[in-house]
Amino acid sequence: MGPEEFYAHAMRSADGEGRLPLSRMTGWDVFPFERAGLRVVPLAPPELPEPGRAGENGADCAACAGDLTPVWSDEHWRLAVLGASGTPLILMLQPDAHHDLPDLPDDRASEMGLLIVRTARAIESLPHIARAHVSRWGDGGAHLHIPRRRRHRQGACPLPRRPGSRPALTARRDRTAPGGGR
Ligand SMILES: [Zn+2]
Repeated sequence: MGPEEFYAHAMRSADGEGRLPLSRMTGWDVFPFERAGLRVVPLAPPELPEPGRAGENGADCAACAGDLTPVWSDEHWRLAVLGASGTPLILMLQPDAHHDLPDLPDDRASEMGLLIVRTARAIESLPHIARAHVSRWGDGGAHLHIPRRRRHRQGACPLPRRPGSRPALTARRDRTAPGGGR
C-alpha cells in the first residue's frame, strides 16, 4: 500500500474534519485522561520524502554524543534514568553504537533481549511495583532507545481511575503500601 493509497484508506475512517476516532486505549481504565473533549488532530497528506529524524544516519546524534548520563553501562549498552515524570521511574536503554532496531547486529539483539528481561525482573522485584512497561516507537530519534516505565501496585499510587470503573489493576494490594493502600 503506497503512501497516497494508505492516506485514502485512513481518510475513509476519518470524520468530516479528517479526524480519526479515538483509539481503544482511551477506554482503558488506566488511561489518564477523560475522553470528553479529547480529539485526534486532523490527518495531514503524506509528506514525501519523509523528513529525517533526529540523529538520522548518525549525523548530529544526541545519543551518540552521550546526552544521557548512564546509571549502568557495559561495553555495548547504557541504561539511563530520564527526568521527572508522574511514574516512579523511567529508564532508557540504548546501544552505545549508532543502531536502530532493524539494523541492530544479532549479538546486540541477543544482549538487548536479556537486558530487557533482567531489567524488568529487577524493577518488578521492587516494593510496590506491579509492572515494568517496555516500549519502542522510534519516530523522534534514529538511535534505538527503549524506555521502561514502572507502575505502582494498586493502592500504592494515585493512579487515575474513572468513577464507577472496575479496579484498574489486578495486582495484589501491597499491605505495606504507603498511605494505607488507597
Ligand atoms: Zn546515535
